[in-house]
Amino acid sequence: MPDTNPLSLTRQLTAARKVVITTHANPDGDAMGSSLAMFHYLKKKGCVPAVIVPTSYPDFLAWLPGNEQVLVYQNGGGKADQLIAEAEIIVCLDFNALSRTGDMENALRSASALKAVIDHHISPDTFPDFLISDVAKSSTAEIVYDFITVCGDEGLIDKEIAECLFTGILTDTGGFQFPTTTAAVHRKAAFLIECGADNHAIYERVFNTFSEMRLRLFGYCIERMKLFKDLKTALIVLSRNELQRFAVRQGDTEGLVNFPMKMQEINLSVLIVDRTERIKLSFRSRGTFDVNQFAREHFNGGGHRNAAGGYSFESLEKVVQKFESILPQYREALQY
Ligand code: 5GP
Ligand code: MN
Repeated sequence: MPDTNPLSLTRQLTAARKVVITTHANPDGDAMGSSLAMFHYLKKKGCVPAVIVPTSYPDFLAWLPGNEQVLVYQNGGGKADQLIAEAEIIVCLDFNALSRTGDMENALRSASALKAVIDHHISPDTFPDFLISDVAKSSTAEIVYDFITVCGDEGLIDKEIAECLFTGILTDTGGFQFPTTTAAVHRKAAFLIECGADNHAIYERVFNTFSEMRLRLFGYCIERMKLFKDLKTALIVLSRNELQRFAVRQGDTEGLVNFPMKMQEINLSVLIVDRTERIKLSFRSRGTFDVNQFAREHFNGGGHRNAAGGYSFESLEKVVQKFESILPQYREALQY
């Protein structure tokens, strides 16, 4: 059984020097924000941390403080493998199953380091030695904030840490809109603003930096979106061809799956994208329809009740067909 006491983890971290911080493949704002916040915090605690992420991440996150020191595993070089092999502790943020780390999985699995998971997804795996997990929390960044506070280090939160934590909370709450956005989340966000996070500037950098092509891609997808009105479901499918036509870059489809949820009568929104190496599915729901369970059961995935993802190695056509054939079984649950 993993140790769930944050003070045990901080004791280990304080005793260690070489710490690797990592997160899931295709990192989002919470993944990068919580990882870089932890990076700055652990430096202040006397560790020598390194952030290694499995794949690259969108440009709208590249302004985060510490960005230039992030190693991208996918880009190769033996340095990342060496750091992982030599680490005393590996801190895994915003995921709870090693399979979410893509090509990095083997190196992480064979590392002799103690492993800590700090995360808010459902059903954590049993691999970690330390586990700080709370599915009720808005974001991993919020849990990192709580961790720093429990360790008595709130006073160490400077502008850099505040900007990273604020970004994680901002993105995972969809701009403070999702049900996990409690009064406490707003208080923490307010404190981070007081510590120097420029909330307006961060919002602009993260959400309002679309290229023309990216916005036109969104328009195109919404135009072509398929509605299953009796099942309260919207489906957007993007083929490899379409990705090329719109010169889609890393992160360009981020947030797209949320748009159909703007229709009050839609309870499930699904985005299926042909990412060449695999078909990626994203799910968003309203109310009681549990997309974590749906993604787990049918598409090797998981996540949260109202936001989850999955993948498949079948063809795009097959995956779409499979989804459409399963969907009617959920008619009742989708009425909500
Ligand atoms: P997104 O659709 O934005 O990629 O992901 C939505 C949520 O589901 C995020 O919390 C993400 O971490 C989780 N998620 C996305 N893809 C997968 C997956 O393949 N497996 C699991 N377990 N979770 C996923
Ligand atoms: Mn998250």
